Amino acid sequence: MSTIRIGHGWDLHRLVVGKPLLLGGVSVKSPLGADAHSDGDVLLHALVDAILGAAALGDIGEHFPPTQAQWKDADSSTLLAKVLAILADERPGWQLGNVDATVILEKPSLKEYKPMIQKSLAKLLGLPLEQISVKAKTCEKLGPIGHGEAISALVTVLLCADTD
Ligand code: MG
Repeated sequence: MSTIRIGHGWDLHRLVVGKPLLLGGVSVKSPLGADAHSDGDVLLHALVDAILGAAALGDIGEHFPPTQAQWKDADSSTLLAKVLAILADERPGWQLGNVDATVILEKPSLKEYKPMIQKSLAKLLGLPLEQISVKAKTCEKLGPIGHGEAISALVTVLLCADTD
């Protein structure tokens, strides 16, 4: 028998001039980037929280406090790798089932980036492409995201374990 656990993650960062815009480890060409203590990859941050949530192992802020200098400008793919290692240690036998991600950003359009982001996530997670979904939406020019002041991401994951 297989047991499943669902997890969801959400993140938002302010957009500012002169910072890189990284999504799922992919560099997106944009005059605005995420203002953050780490590299500001909202998609990886939401993914990390979704995995931690599915495993009931806390949240990204507990594991990588923004008050600690060691996480300044941290590569978020390193944070993801550390969380996968924590998952393997704390929840042996549990595997990622699928990942469904939505990025909310007014511009630039992520149409050409979505396949790259999907491939990058598949590589970082060691999963086939068909288990990774990357979607993109705007905020219809409404609110801080719609005004180009912020970027957000939502991620849902399943963890699966054989419990025979
Ligand atoms: Mg974040």
